[in-house]
Amino acid sequence: MAVALYPGSFDPLTYGHLDIIKRASSVFNHILLGIITNPNKTPFFSLEERKKIIKDVIDNIGLSNKVTVDSFDGLMVNYAREKNIKVVIRGLRAVSDFEYELALSMMNKTLYNELETVFLMTASEYSFISSNLVKEVFKYGGDISNYVHPIVFNEMLKKIR
Ligand code: ADP
Repeated sequence: MAVALYPGSFDPLTYGHLDIIKRASSVFNHILLGIITNPNKTPFFSLEERKKIIKDVIDNIGLSNKVTVDSFDGLMVNYAREKNIKVVIRGLRAVSDFEYELALSMMNKTLYNELETVFLMTASEYSFISSNLVKEVFKYGGDISNYVHPIVFNEMLKKIR
């Protein structure tokens, strides 16, 4: 199996994302982690910050030979086509993710027929973690150390100092 694209905002990268990355990297030869840049959202971390943080974490867990970090704007299918990628990975946390993800994968199929979406189920201990929830808890001073890698946590702390 060749290269698989794992797209997302990763703002910030959580243990849920990392779990998907680790498991996907045992199935696929290589993972291209594509950070989506959304001009309509003000992110917690800038694109460049996210890129650096994710690269550092990937290095730290010894996966830098399996995972490349990049970014793209516009349609994911255009980016996948440009990179000649035929598999996209998405994580599923709960039934609530399913409807949206199903619609998205069907839409993507109409835009790029050769592209297959592969869903990986979240590990149960991470099923309730989302970047938004992590940011929310962090904002009010809650402990998020069980949900993000220490590198991510430190960078989040730096942001508010
Ligand atoms: P979020 O949905 O948390 O804002 P992203 O847009 O960065 O995160 O999500 C990118 C991909 O990672 C999506 O397919 C999403 O379902 C998946 N994902 C996010 N959090 C988790 C988790 N805790 N467990 C499994 N997959 C996850």
